[in-house]
Amino acid sequence: MDSLPKCTKCGSELTYQDGLLFICPECSHEWTQDEDEKTPDTSLVIKDANGNILQDGDTVTVIKDLKVKGSSLVVKVGTKVKNIRLIEGDHDIDCKVDGIGPMKLKSQFVKKA
Ligand SMILES: [Zn+2]
Repeated sequence: MDSLPKCTKCGSELTYQDGLLFICPECSHEWTQDEDEKTPDTSLVIKDANGNILQDGDTVTVIKDLKVKGSSLVVKVGTKVKNIRLIEGDHDIDCKVDGIGPMKLKSQFVKKA
């Protein structure tokens, strides 16, 4: 493998590849080849009530009773919501609640399960 790039930090030629990652044994720098081309995935950082960062597919627990807009239904505190999807907006979690159906939640009223 003579096509490995030099370390982007110290210029070492002893880099090796681990999957998509390049690793420099000399300065421990790790990077991916298309690092510069990637759009940083920092546009949407959504945190739960405890400040933990939430991700698509996470399971969260509701920490307070939440009325469902336009109905008499309430999502009870302690309700587990699986497979959330993060979206932008005031209500930043798109999900499906058992027994209620698709709805949107505010991340400040959930915590990561
Ligand atoms: Zn290096």
